[in-house]
Amino acid sequence: MLDILQREIKFLVGVGPKRAQLLNTELGIFTFEDFLFYFPYKYIDRSKFYKINELNTTLPFIQLKGKIIGFSTAGVGNKKRLIANFSDGTGIIELLWFKGLAYIQKNLMLKTEYIVYGKPSNFSGKYNIVHPEVESALKAQNIISANLQAHYNTSEKLKKSFLHSKIISKLVNNLLVTLKDKLPETLPDYLLEKYKLISLKEALFNIHFPQNNDLLKKSIYRLKYEELFYIQLNILQKRSYRIHKSKGFIFSKVGDFLNLFYERNLPFELTGAQKRVLKEIRKDIGSGKQMNRLLQGDVGSGKTLVALMSMLIALDNGFQTCIMAPTEILANQHFDTIKEFLSGLPVKFDLLTGSVKASARKVIHESLLNGELQILIGTHALIEDIVQFKNLGLVVIDEQHRFGVAQRAKLWKKNIQPPHILVMTATPIPRTLAMTIYGDLNVSVIDELPPGRKPIQTLHLYDSKRLRMFGFLKQQIEQGRQIYIVYPLIQESEKMDYKDLEDGYDSISRAFPPPKYAVSVVHGKMKAKEKDASMSLFVRAQTQIMVATTVIEVGVNVPNASVMVIESAERFGLSQLHQLRGRVGRGVDQSYCVLMTSYKLSKESRKRIEIMTKTNDGFEIADADLKLRGPGDIEGTQQSGIAFDLKIANLAQDGQLIQFVRDIAEEILDVDPNLENTENQILARQLKKISNKKVDFSVIS
Ligand code: ADP
Ligand code: MG
Repeated sequence: MLDILQREIKFLVGVGPKRAQLLNTELGIFTFEDFLFYFPYKYIDRSKFYKINELNTTLPFIQLKGKIIGFSTAGVGNKKRLIANFSDGTGIIELLWFKGLAYIQKNLMLKTEYIVYGKPSNFSGKYNIVHPEVESALKAQNIISANLQAHYNTSEKLKKSFLHSKIISKLVNNLLVTLKDKLPETLPDYLLEKYKLISLKEALFNIHFPQNNDLLKKSIYRLKYEELFYIQLNILQKRSYRIHKSKGFIFSKVGDFLNLFYERNLPFELTGAQKRVLKEIRKDIGSGKQMNRLLQGDVGSGKTLVALMSMLIALDNGFQTCIMAPTEILANQHFDTIKEFLSGLPVKFDLLTGSVKASARKVIHESLLNGELQILIGTHALIEDIVQFKNLGLVVIDEQHRFGVAQRAKLWKKNIQPPHILVMTATPIPRTLAMTIYGDLNVSVIDELPPGRKPIQTLHLYDSKRLRMFGFLKQQIEQGRQIYIVYPLIQESEKMDYKDLEDGYDSISRAFPPPKYAVSVVHGKMKAKEKDASMSLFVRAQTQIMVATTVIEVGVNVPNASVMVIESAERFGLSQLHQLRGRVGRGVDQSYCVLMTSYKLSKESRKRIEIMTKTNDGFEIADADLKLRGPGDIEGTQQSGIAFDLKIANLAQDGQLIQFVRDIAEEILDVDPNLENTENQILARQLKKISNKKVDFSVIS
């Protein structure tokens, strides 16, 4: 059978080239299949008819059944309106139209029984419905189901061409009639049976024309199951393929570099979580397969140290390694940290950023190529073509969401054989999401903070309490602590934000005058040199207050800073607030995060602030974030595009189902890795179809 589902939409009864064009551009519908999987966004129960004498203004959209007993018009110009008096025997209500009067009057008849649908309102004692939907009661009986009526998203353009929800519903009806008995099943019988799923045909039929609530639920479940199941099957199969295929360098031994560091230089005990993660990494890099691991750990959990120790193992096995950070400040900081950690050890390391002079660069390039330089720390500058390693064995990428997939791939190409990859992120991704967008990655989690840290106390203050807040800051400074004060930075209104920061800086300078106090400032308009100078004053505790925009968001480490004040906190997203808060609480002192907001807060902003004051747990916050914003907004999902490809499942809400179908997919692949068994032919076929269509989002590096 030539696939009828791939037929162009213009060939559907009732569509034609003109409507097809609109469906293409407005809804991305090109084929019968696209249309079949264009699902309603809501359903209205149309089994209940109200009586006119029961109406009140609190009712939502309702329907009435009755007849038009007369027409009149009123008003002039654009106030001109058509009024139909509508009666159902219990009372009379006015139906009103302000547009298309002539057309409507021509098409509506007296004495015909109609079903009227809309939201009633009361105008000086009389009920009316403005622009109701009206359809003949006789016709309504003939469409497939009149009970739960599906509503489809349309656009202004579509509505102008009369392609509103009701017409779309009719066209879908035509489609289902056309496809009758020609809809192939896409899941094998044994899955349908075992998990009590209804057939695809029944599900598609009922998703558009639900016969009852129960069948609607079963349809939604079946379609979500299928959608998520194939995503997981696809990811898992690619993954096992990659594991079988891609060879990796074998780091078999631990040698002097790591041992010396461990014995002489490691200033503290590793946390249990750090030890566990190191074990996971060692297992990967010793396996002969290329490592592709995501290291998640809350801010301050000690990821850098884990990275450094992994890098030393690379050295022990004769390989070079590099660590790449998203900003120059961060790269500098990694350089400083690593320098301190490695002091006195015979390791050659260097820093490469945009600010490094050409002559110094040349030296770096040469010593990389001849293998002398063992560890390179840097920014995007590492990806430039001219940067060539002699034998790059391990790449560490910090704060992964800031690098695009293509950029990572570039690093990958530098070797004949791909190096091991360790991606570190402090923005925890909820498990189910990680499983779906980074399904091909192995995930390690540091879920324990180094000992002795006191949980940060987070408070919410309204702007009117700023003077009290200043008083508190003075106490903290008195005790020798340092303070961050952060202002929002939103690209579109950079000027305005800059002004906020300037005004804030002025009032802070007045409240904290020299010589007793010293204030640093860092913002995006400063040159890198100025930024670094200002930053390093704060790092060396020569200033007590750092006024900044979000440029300080990632990574900076000043353990003596104990207060993070976030101005206009309502303008930040949850994960950003959490990142900022993570700049404090790095030392032994009690730390505080103060969220300043105006009185006026949207419901969502209030919720975000509430979550922040309630928990310090990055994973809990990530989950809340996913629920509040939906997966489309979470960093990483945009690149992968997956959140937008989903037709019915929802990554934020269907976490359990994702886990469930992933386990099922794993079980199937365990038994039949290449999907060769007869009963799995449907799976193989369907998978092929899916992976032909979709971009590959399963590989991160
Ligand atoms: P992040 O995970 O945010 O990158 P860092 O690696 O910057 O965290 O570590 C935060 C701070 O904790 C650093 O000052 C680091 O030296 C320190 N640290 C890391 N591991 C431990 C440990 N096991 N015990 C005590 N302090 C640690
Ligand atoms: Mg870090």
